[in-house]
Amino acid sequence: MDVIKSLFVVLLLSVGTPALGQDWLDGLQELANELTAPAQDTRSPPPAGPKPPERPVVERPKVAPVLPPVPLPRPDFDGATDAEAETPPADDAEPMSEEVAAPAAEPARVYQGACPAVLQGFVDATMGDPIEEGACGIQSPLVVTAVLSRGRMVPLSSPVTTSCAMASALPGWVAQVDGYASAMLDSALAQINTGPGYMCRLRNNGETGFVSEHGFANALDISGFTLADGRTIAVKTDWLPGNAPQGRMLRLAHDAACGEFTTVLGPEANADHDDHLHLDLGCHGQNCTALICE
Ligand SMILES: [Zn+2]
Repeated sequence: MDVIKSLFVVLLLSVGTPALGQDWLDGLQELANELTAPAQDTRSPPPAGPKPPERPVVERPKVAPVLPPVPLPRPDFDGATDAEAETPPADDAEPMSEEVAAPAAEPARVYQGACPAVLQGFVDATMGDPIEEGACGIQSPLVVTAVLSRGRMVPLSSPVTTSCAMASALPGWVAQVDGYASAMLDSALAQINTGPGYMCRLRNNGETGFVSEHGFANALDISGFTLADGRTIAVKTDWLPGNAPQGRMLRLAHDAACGEFTTVLGPEANADHDDHLHLDLGCHGQNCTALICE
């Protein structure tokens, strides 16, 4: 559009010579002046409306400058870092409530030893509570109910309380007696008839003297055996005659016990043992290497 205006103005100026003396050119001259005049903004100003609300000035929070990361201190050999070691206890920590600060009193821990013979299935037994009875007692008593013999468990006539050492010595001995019964009496063992295991008393039921191995659950009395065919072989009634099958079997049982225990007392030891075999693992000799087999 501006190009057209310019061409038109040039045309007017070139033909508008005073020599023509024509008034109609004056009108064109005025039009040309208007067209060549600098453009003026003839637009009306926008109507004055309500002023927009000014933005509230919000102050930026002061932020601490970001510092480059600092490597953490190396932990000591015990695993505690310097920061942990130097951290003071929080003074403003809330005190613990009464319930948490005073926990309920727990029973003291009871330390007992496991028995490998029980773990491996050679003996059926449960762990009893520690026994403290004057000079007697045992920390880890076993309540034995059966003994492994030749692939099966042979029960005891009643549960007996013994040490792990005593319980561990039983399977080897019972297996030998079981074999004697089968060979000599044609019937295997069905039950082991026992007397007391643990019993707090002095030796030979005396008034003075040393505490019996029974007082340490380190002894067991055997009154006899019940066979699979129902017969009962009792020390009291079958020890004699010694050349009968029952008497021979009991003597073999007595002698076999001398290879498993350190003390074996039978009817020939003294009158106190005329009805049972006493077996224990007491210490004899200065180095516990002596045997008592009577
Ligand atoms: Zn005894």
